[in-house]
Amino acid sequence: MSESKELDTLYEKYPQLFPTNCIQCNNGWFTIIDHMCLTIQAYVDGEMGEELKFPEFVSIQEKFGVLDICIDDSDNIIDLVKKSCEILSYHMCEYCGDEGELYCSSKWRSWSYCKTLCLDHAIEHYYYRLYRDTEFSKG
Ligand SMILES: [Zn+2]
Repeated sequence: MSESKELDTLYEKYPQLFPTNCIQCNNGWFTIIDHMCLTIQAYVDGEMGEELKFPEFVSIQEKFGVLDICIDDSDNIIDLVKKSCEILSYHMCEYCGDEGELYCSSKWRSWSYCKTLCLDHAIEHYYYRLYRDTEFSKG
């Protein structure tokens, strides 16, 4: 995955949440990830006693075209924050943060690599538009 200087600033901003540098995605999702860290940090500072283990990110990466976050020593509240951030990425371009949707790298979907992109970045990277399985399997 591409290197991202902007995302690297999060390691210094939230050192307790990042024992290791574990973000592997592009800059477009910076706002989502930054907001998630801010929320979790504020929650932990305000709600958790010193006897509780501090939550730590294990991995933040792009998986099947969307944000996939793994965090240790989480609880129900943190899981909810995490899940809402993953859902936000479904409609945000991974490169620029504009409104996006799922595209795939070839016309043969099952052999494709998927990414959430805006139209400009889909064209730039030669990705094809596709429709989510869930839209067909509803009901
Ligand atoms: Zn874009």
